[in-house]
Amino acid sequence: MTFSYKKFRLVSVLVLVWLCLPHHTARAEDPSLNLVLVTLDGVRWQEVFAGVDLDLIEDERYSHRPELLKETYWRQDQAERRKRLFPFLWSTIASQGVLIGDRNQESYMEVSNPWWFSYPGYNEILTGHADPAIDSNDRNWNPNITFLEILNGMKGFKNRVMAFGSWDVFPYIINTRRNELPVNAGLAQTTPAATEQIRWLNKVSAEAPRLWATVRLDFITHGYAMEALKNQQPRVIYIAYGETDDFAHDRSYDRYVDAAHRTDQMLRELWNWLQANPFYRDRTVLIITTDHGRGNTPDGWPHHASAASMAKADSQDRADGVPGSDQIWLAAIGPSVQSKGLVKGQWKQSQVAATALASLLLDPVKIMPLAAQAMSQLLR
Ligand SMILES: [Zn+2]
Repeated sequence: MTFSYKKFRLVSVLVLVWLCLPHHTARAEDPSLNLVLVTLDGVRWQEVFAGVDLDLIEDERYSHRPELLKETYWRQDQAERRKRLFPFLWSTIASQGVLIGDRNQESYMEVSNPWWFSYPGYNEILTGHADPAIDSNDRNWNPNITFLEILNGMKGFKNRVMAFGSWDVFPYIINTRRNELPVNAGLAQTTPAATEQIRWLNKVSAEAPRLWATVRLDFITHGYAMEALKNQQPRVIYIAYGETDDFAHDRSYDRYVDAAHRTDQMLRELWNWLQANPFYRDRTVLIITTDHGRGNTPDGWPHHASAASMAKADSQDRADGVPGSDQIWLAAIGPSVQSKGLVKGQWKQSQVAATALASLLLDPVKIMPLAAQAMSQLLR
């Protein structure tokens, strides 16, 4: 082939065009990762790492169909058992991501707020520090600023941060009175109903039986979140599932376990969809955690509270609080996350915010100087 300047120019232009194209293999220096943060309200580390609990299955107070529960979820082998309950966590995440919080394997994660219930936990997750003054689940506007709100004010993220929650207190936790963040929670519908699926979800949301006064069914929350991903392409989305905690307070281990399993299926659907979508594939981090644990005995399992919160409620019952309900866990997967499976160490809930920012390859120290440090052991 003879050299021609024309050819050389053409090749140079093609190389330049290729260099300017977005490439979907995420590299460490890639500044444009996306984040999906998920919380499963009050799911214990015990079920995540050991599967269903035989003592609770066989406890007549909590289980109406112990045989069915055993047949569906109980296996003698612990690894098989937890995979029955959380097949996505124990296949995809265990092999390609990280999990922490298995206290039987020297992996510990705890809340640092003194209360051990939902609003203080979500505040700690989203703001990067425990605020003892957040001492109630009431609908109070959060004076603290979440990393979602900070991101929504940053270049590249503006109007591309969204939240979906089953519990109707999330607009207050994220404080939509102070910011422009779209938060769809409780019985909220999506308007305008731009797609057939959203119209169906709005109808279901209005017509389905309401099991609880402040919490809707998780498939509705999940459905709205999936529609937002498909139609609005947010760069950061927070999805807060809630059924597990309410079924546990209702003292139904059957339903708590089924809800946890359904959530795992939703996570699989979510992750598979992200990996099939050209915008999100290989450029999206998924972090999953919980707001608090639950009691570590059959008597304590339906509950969660610290001694301080029982004292504040002036309760004679459970004056010592509910032991174990400060113990939590976290799982993560994505291009900036290690693929080590279980990681040993000790972490706090307040580290989630900085970890989320660092997983987006942003500098949490600059963005949220007051937040507890990122869990660097989990990140690449
Ligand atoms: Zn609760």
